[in-house]
Amino acid sequence: AGSTGPGTPADPLEPGAVGHGTPLLTVRGLHKSFGDNHVLRGIDLDVRRGQVTALIGPSGSGKTTLLRSLNGLAVPDAGTIVAEGVPGRRLALDFSRKVTDREKFALRDLSAMVFQQHNLFPHRTVLQNVVEGPVQVQRERRADAVERALVLLDRVGLAGKRDAYPHELSGGQQQRVGIVRALALRPELLLFDEPTSALDPELVGEVLTVMKELADEGWTMVVVTHELQFARAVADEVLFLDEGVVVERGDPARMFLEPAQERTRQFLRRLL
Ligand code: ADP
Repeated sequence: AGSTGPGTPADPLEPGAVGHGTPLLTVRGLHKSFGDNHVLRGIDLDVRRGQVTALIGPSGSGKTTLLRSLNGLAVPDAGTIVAEGVPGRRLALDFSRKVTDREKFALRDLSAMVFQQHNLFPHRTVLQNVVEGPVQVQRERRADAVERALVLLDRVGLAGKRDAYPHELSGGQQQRVGIVRALALRPELLLFDEPTSALDPELVGEVLTVMKELADEGWTMVVVTHELQFARAVADEVLFLDEGVVVERGDPARMFLEPAQERTRQFLRRLL
């Protein structure tokens, strides 16, 4: 891990540097329904520090719902999530009983999400978008937040765009700002929900490059993606979901070459 990439593992929380490989989130038996639609049907997932997990699978298989469950945006009906945050801040959420808002917010605070659409505030500049969370939510001093934001923007090649508005940027630039905005929150975990699927093909590469740099720096990441080449190159573990269950999981090099399950094979054949 160098100091030149877009991440900030030298920050006080040292997201990737502390306890590489130790459990950050332990998810067991997660279930979620929307009405009659049983979307997650008993999901187990281990997110370890410094590792990249890719969630792949057909549309509607529950990938986004699982991702959103990891930060409290979706609330499962049953199952547990144990989060080993910074020492002394262990969280254990059992969704089969009532989970309090306080617990949900504590879970949410561990992570930052990069969405499919960048979700930037349209009437605020790039810099204002990036410092909003640290200043308004985390009560960081504005001057400090601005200083950190400029370092992060510089690292993704966008320092010159600090005063631009989102509509003045390309889709790839917008998405890189979206990533910087997540990094500025100094989360322990970065969640990506198909961050390149809304981009024109020629803009996908610049976003994936930033994500690969973050992975190399030791950020812990969970990525919903259709970019199998990216998953193969970057992910430590891939989970193939179908109809709300993890059909197969493992090392992408092995799984993409020799899927153990017929359903995985069929899915991969369509994409590779
Ligand atoms: P994926 O990310 O694999 O495409 P999703 O988790 O987005 O899958 O969706 C899984 C299923 O859950 C879909 O049938 C979708 O329509 C449904 N779903 C997702 N979010 C909601 C919601 N907020 N309300 C109702 N149904 C939802």
